[in-house]
This record gives sequence, C-alpha cells and structure tokens, in this order.
Amino acid sequence: MDIVGIKLSETLQGRGCPVCRAMEKFEEDEIATILYEHVTDPGVRTKFRESMGLCTRHAWKTLEVALGNPLLGPLGVSIIYEDVLGVYLRGEREKAECFLCELVREKERTLVEALADRLDELLPEYSSSPAILCRRHYDMLVEKLKDRPDLIKKLEEVQTKKLRELDARLKAFIDTYDYRSTRKPTEEETRSLEEAVEFLRSRPVVISAERKNRRGRGWHLGLK
Ligand SMILES: [Zn+2]
Ligand SMILES: [Zn+2]
Repeated sequence: MDIVGIKLSETLQGRGCPVCRAMEKFEEDEIATILYEHVTDPGVRTKFRESMGLCTRHAWKTLEVALGNPLLGPLGVSIIYEDVLGVYLRGEREKAECFLCELVREKERTLVEALADRLDELLPEYSSSPAILCRRHYDMLVEKLKDRPDLIKKLEEVQTKKLRELDARLKAFIDTYDYRSTRKPTEEETRSLEEAVEFLRSRPVVISAERKNRRGRGWHLGLK
C-alpha cells in the first residue's frame, strides 16, 4: 500500500470518525506550524489581515494551541493579533474568508477521495476497527463511490453493523441508570454517548468545512 494508504489505515485503527480525526490533527498541525515558523511571514500576515484574524472558531483554536503549548506561549499570537488590530484601526475590514477554513475544506476533500480510492483494500480494516465514519463523511464517501455499487453495498453492511452495535451500547448505558440496575456502565458504554453525537453531527472541525456552503459563493464579492 502507498504512503497515503498506510496513513489512512492508521487513522482507521482509532475510535470515532477517521476523516474527522485526521482533519482535526491537520488543523492543529497547521496552527502549530504557523505559530512556530510563520508569525512574521508576510504571506501569512496578509491572510490574517484579510480575514480580520481568521474565523471565530480558528481564532480561538489558535489561541488555545498557543497558550496550551509552553514552547509557543502568547508572544507569537500577540504579534499576529496586534498587527490585525492595527490594520482594523487604519480602517480595513474583511476581504477574504479564513484561510484555515479553506485548508481544512481542501483536506476533507482529499481525505475522502483518498479513502474512496483505497476502500477495496481498507474496508476489512475498517470493519474490524472501533472507528465509525460520521454521517457526513459516510455520505461523502458513498458519493465518491457512485460508480462502485458493489463496494457501496459492502460499506453499507459494515456501517449498519457498527451503528447497531453503537445503538446497543448506548441503550445498555441508559439501562445502567435504572434504579433496578446493579452495575456501573463499562468504559465502552460510557463512550457510546459521545460516539453517537460524533456519528450524527461530526467533530467540531467540520464547522470549518461547512462554512462556505452556508455563505454561498458570494463571499469574496459581498464585502467591502
Ligand atoms: Zn467525520
Ligand atoms: Zn476558519
């Protein structure tokens, strides 16, 4: 298997949606790279200025990454936001979308495509792992596989099995709250709540990928 396939196979081993999890990792790595290497990079600075400091989600995520990492700290992020504040004071306003949202959206697209291209090989691994593709990424994957009805059918069987198992675990979790219950929920049962939310609504990183759809294509034209 190629390097992309090996990476995907690793992602498939964990819990939750492999696409969402890989997007989250990508997002954090991108933010860390900006803070480590590109604080004074004129290109990056322009991108921050044009979006008035990224979108709300990515602005707070950037702060979180900076302040949560003792090797980074508040200096770099202060320099960036002082620059954006200065530009605002000179009368500039948003001209472009948050570039991290664009990068995340692109990453989502390539991840789903890569998974679709290698699904013949990767389906057995997905089947035996605790991972569950979220509803959004499952639908995107099925869309990419539309010329492969045989593979869609196999994927659907695997996915349904996973979701039935998740539903049973969530029910068992609820049952442990019954006053007649004599046992505490297992770790797997406790985790089922978050896994159900993750399946239905994806991880928060997906907000960044969804934004453009909500705003439509007029984003670059409608402002300023
Ligand atoms: Zn997902
Ligand atoms: Zn963003």
